[in-house]
Amino acid sequence: MSYEGTMLEQLAMPTRAEVEKALLITLLKHNGIIKEFASSEEIVNEIAGLFSLNQEQREAVLERVYQKENRIVKTPLWHRLLYRAADSLAKEKLVTNPKTTVQLTNRREWMLTEKGFDAALRLLNISSEQKENLLVKSYEVQKEIKKLIDIERPKDYNPLDTKKKTQTITRETSIRSRGFRQAVIESYDCRCCVCGLKMQTPDFMAWEVEAAHIVPHSANGRDDVLNGIALCRLHHWAFDTGWFSLSNDCKIIVSSQITRLPKNYGKIGEYDYFRDTLTNQKPILLPSNTTLLPHQKSVEWHRQHVFYS
Ligand SMILES: [Zn+2]
Repeated sequence: MSYEGTMLEQLAMPTRAEVEKALLITLLKHNGIIKEFASSEEIVNEIAGLFSLNQEQREAVLERVYQKENRIVKTPLWHRLLYRAADSLAKEKLVTNPKTTVQLTNRREWMLTEKGFDAALRLLNISSEQKENLLVKSYEVQKEIKKLIDIERPKDYNPLDTKKKTQTITRETSIRSRGFRQAVIESYDCRCCVCGLKMQTPDFMAWEVEAAHIVPHSANGRDDVLNGIALCRLHHWAFDTGWFSLSNDCKIIVSSQITRLPKNYGKIGEYDYFRDTLTNQKPILLPSNTTLLPHQKSVEWHRQHVFYS
């Protein structure tokens, strides 16, 4: 047995297969990405914690002689085991390695692929239907997001996708719709652009806020950021039913029907939630990247076809 193998056995370290599983689970819990191990003690310790590794196991050092340079290189055994497991996941195309990821995101991280995402869901017994709502990043979805946000803002824009058909959910449509959702939600800093609500599920894996199509999906609205805004569930519903729309400069326009709404409706206790958050001429919270503002053609369509003036 090799020197490294003997050390792993003597210290009763977890097997590489066990570390691979722990890595997939950790990636899912960290929304699909973890920093490369050399720059993140936090992740290294978190995964060590999953195996309840003791001090000796965490600190064991492997000494290798580099004969050419005649020097001894010391590598922490646990780091090396982690790296080997991650590298093996990369070979199986379950993750992308930091060298590949950095080209897409400019950050040196391990990132789940779609295949790795599915494998991690299976390990945690999470159904694949839930995949659509999770925040988890995958390499393929990040590529889609890059396409969606690296745009030149067109003057002439058709918010309707004439080629869009009602499609069954295939791998491609799932990647596209998750790309749309994540790109819109992240552009708006994960908050409702009307009331500012920012809220997560208790497992911190999904947002309350939704990516709303301005020209709705049912009218073949495009799945791109120029046709999307981030809204909480109440404001998404109010936008889709025509309670409010947006002016070309992204200010709220409220339906005149609000004057007919009984006084005790839309309230939470004494707080007049519906009326206080929907104020005529109030600007919505805009994305910091102004290239990603809703396109005026999208809001014009919404005012004409959905808004209940
Ligand atoms: Zn809201």
